[in-house]
Formats: sequence, structure tokens, C-alpha cells
Amino acid sequence: MASHPPAPESLPKYITEGVPKQDNKSLRDLSAWIEELLDYREKQLTAAIETDDAIESIEQTNEGTIITKKQLCGKDNCKCTDGDLHGPYRWKVTYENGKTSWEYLGKA
Ligand SMILES: [Zn+2]
Repeated sequence: MASHPPAPESLPKYITEGVPKQDNKSLRDLSAWIEELLDYREKQLTAAIETDDAIESIEQTNEGTIITKKQLCGKDNCKCTDGDLHGPYRWKVTYENGKTSWEYLGKA
């Protein structure tokens, strides 16, 4: 029996064993549903981004949501308190279980 294309190794067994057993219609429905889920999560994330910083761009990638922004450093007497913000810097933002986390990626 010819075997189907190998499953991505990143996926858990309960998915890689279950998915190939579905018929074509179910697979297409699943594929469409996954797109909707991803879209929904990206919207959740965008809604969860609360910041006083100046966001320059929001980019959806395979790695996650990449945000480029200029920001305040938090020092009282810095030029950024007058609106001359630092950056732009790049951040990877993820949204899980109602919590937003920011991972610093470096200067843009
Ligand atoms: Zn500053």
C-alpha cells in the first residue's frame, strides 16, 4: 500500500494518526477550519496588544506575530518623554491562554 506524505514531526501523535483517516471532504473542512482558527487567533492577538508605544508594523509570519515599534525607555529625563522615541525595535508577540508575551528580537 502506498503511503501518504509524512506528517510534520512537530505535530502530536493524536493528530498525525487521526487526520489521515478522514475522508477528503473532512480534510477540506479541517483545512478551512484551521485557516479560520489562525485568523481568529491573529485577531485576538491584535486586540490584546496594549501599548503606548508607536507601532510601525504588524506582520504575521510562520514564527508568530512580528511587531516593529518605537518605544519609551522608562527614564524620566530622556528625550523619549518629549516624543522622540527609541527604536524602531522588533518584537515577537504571542498570545496564549489570555496572556500576551513579548520576545525582543533586536533593532529593526
Ligand atoms: Zn528614552
